[in-house]
Amino acid sequence: MLAEMDGFDTTEGVIIIAATNRPDVLDSALLRPGRFDRQIFIDLPDLVGREQILRVHSRKLAIAEDVDLSVVARGTPGLSGAELANLLNESALLAARRNKKRVDMHDIEDAREKVQFGRERRRIMDDEDKKIVAYHEAGHALVGAVVDDGDLPVHKVTIIPRGRSLGSTMYIPKKDIYNYAKRRMLARLATLYGGRISEEVVLGDITSGASSDILQATKLARSMVCDWGMSPLGPIAYGENHDTVFLGREITRSENFSEETARMIDIEIHKLVEEQYNRAKSIIIDKRAALDQIAAALLQYETIEGRHVLEILEFGEIRSPVLPPIITNKTGDSPEKKPAEKTAPEGLSGDAPAPAPSPA
Ligand code: ZN
Repeated sequence: MLAEMDGFDTTEGVIIIAATNRPDVLDSALLRPGRFDRQIFIDLPDLVGREQILRVHSRKLAIAEDVDLSVVARGTPGLSGAELANLLNESALLAARRNKKRVDMHDIEDAREKVQFGRERRRIMDDEDKKIVAYHEAGHALVGAVVDDGDLPVHKVTIIPRGRSLGSTMYIPKKDIYNYAKRRMLARLATLYGGRISEEVVLGDITSGASSDILQATKLARSMVCDWGMSPLGPIAYGENHDTVFLGREITRSENFSEETARMIDIEIHKLVEEQYNRAKSIIIDKRAALDQIAAALLQYETIEGRHVLEILEFGEIRSPVLPPIITNKTGDSPEKKPAEKTAPEGLSGDAPAPAPSPA
């Protein structure tokens, strides 16, 4: 490649551009002045970028008048250009399946959930399992709504299985979030434990359903202590976190601290987790009536929206209409129920990825 590049004269007006996903392992010979001398980092698109990308890809689609692409952009933080194109493609397929002439907001919202959180998997769950999932998700939603400072409201709670999860609590950030304050991290920890605690308090037993919550919470607490200096151990990086070096590589931590420090790190992580676990637990116990109502609403409707959770908290009942599940015959063999949807942005789902939104 270098030999080829040597053939060009700098006065010829030829620009050579190359792309890589692994800038960390490039041979430095490639990066010397006169060769590839400029590096441009292309990050995932931001809010404005996503809206523009959606505009480009929606040109060839018949879009209904109710579609507001800025709302769609707001609900899709972290999606790449290709994923946004895929989202519109999926919504066109959904609209066609529903015999619509135009893609409307409902189709886009359903497609967004499918792209971000996985396809709905209708499975036969018995009443006992449904009740466990309903209380688990109600726990996330209740704690999430109580600890929310207004930036990351609960968007939707559902007990419809999706991807690998049995239910999800989804959150949509009001804006793209670039910095995560400690206060929000703590809220996130509490919310993650809401599901498990609800099972424990209500059902008197715990299930394996909280494994991904526990994994996320543990990672988050460890990063708070080791990477972000958010514990009494101070603003020191304990071990190098190679999490971001390359997608797909296991997180490795090269240990540059003593065994004594390792013990203190463990203690601080436990403290963070315990405090937020207890915070979530007292919310669940204090607001047990609301928890019961959210769980009952989930068992009745399967999916409710964030505002319904807030109404239960404020008025003790759901006041705005919950759209009943509509029946769409997807494959012809098994009628599938789908909850009707309204427009709203979403980014995070309950058991969502830590700083990023995700399904619980
Ligand atoms: Zn959960």
